[in-house]
Amino acid sequence: MRTVDMKQKDFVRDFVRSKTLKAIGHSSESDRLHESERASRQTALNLTRFLGYEPYPQDGSFDLHTWVGRAIYEKMTRDLPKVDQGNDRALSVKGLPYVAPGGESGGESGEVLLELARSVIGMQSARDLQRMPGPSDLANQCDVCLADKIAQALGIDSGATQGHIYVKTWIGTAMHEKLEQSLPKVYDGANLEITVDIENISGLGLVSGHVDVHLPEVSSINDYKSADLLGSFGLKKMRQAGVKVAYVWQTMLYLYGLRRAGMPADWANLTFIPRDSRNSSEVWTATCAYMDHVAVFALERAKSLVDVVRFDRRHTLKPDKQTPCFTCVILPRLNKQVA
Ligand SMILES: [Zn+2]
Repeated sequence: MRTVDMKQKDFVRDFVRSKTLKAIGHSSESDRLHESERASRQTALNLTRFLGYEPYPQDGSFDLHTWVGRAIYEKMTRDLPKVDQGNDRALSVKGLPYVAPGGESGGESGEVLLELARSVIGMQSARDLQRMPGPSDLANQCDVCLADKIAQALGIDSGATQGHIYVKTWIGTAMHEKLEQSLPKVYDGANLEITVDIENISGLGLVSGHVDVHLPEVSSINDYKSADLLGSFGLKKMRQAGVKVAYVWQTMLYLYGLRRAGMPADWANLTFIPRDSRNSSEVWTATCAYMDHVAVFALERAKSLVDVVRFDRRHTLKPDKQTPCFTCVILPRLNKQVA
């Protein structure tokens, strides 16, 4: 087994984490409400508060929660004007706050805010529309789910989406977009949101993915993950139990693709940013050296599932009960509880 240079690993982790913290801290002094935003700004502010965040506290204080609030507020400001044109209400939005009857917030009733939040958050992003499986799909530990995704890509299944989007996912996108804007202001050595070709899988096609941050200086990639601090899927638990296998697979596939393209890519970093903490010391970076066998295994497994789908043998697959799979195991359980 290849030995990992622990000193180098610590150095990479601290380097990556410090850049993220700098990007977050940059907001404390530099963000101002722009004049051009004025038209939609009050509604965007109301919507941000509706979701439980305060982007501009009266006392001028700034913490991680404020930063998440600003990320949400800025995305609301950008997306609100698009609602009227491309309104897609086919998607339901899970995780919206309940509205107390007659509740008022800054001039707009709770009902109005709920409807607006549904429209903004329900707008399909380009990411959601992606049809070809990407590294995060290939990393899905559930054979049934990956096979279904492959069947959609091959046009065997209709490709109907799950029909709903989660507020937490949308907040994660808002945080990604904010980091993408802030990071270049504090560090100019990173390549952001680059597309990486992973491999051409026979019978399926070229699998490619988007890497949040490539840092050639430390031969690393960094993937941001928004997370809850507490709870059974929270960061506190993960720091004890270790990073999800799916995350390891996903990042190893990115590194695999970058290395094939001749780019420096020796380390995978995952930087977890809690949505429910005020303290940026809770931002956690996990670092892992490249493991070729993991990427190769993930690709081999995907290839075999392409064959399973093409030869119409999906009924032989079993859902992942060990992790367990959110879609196949947890969601049906939750729905049963609600029913
Ligand atoms: Zn599944």
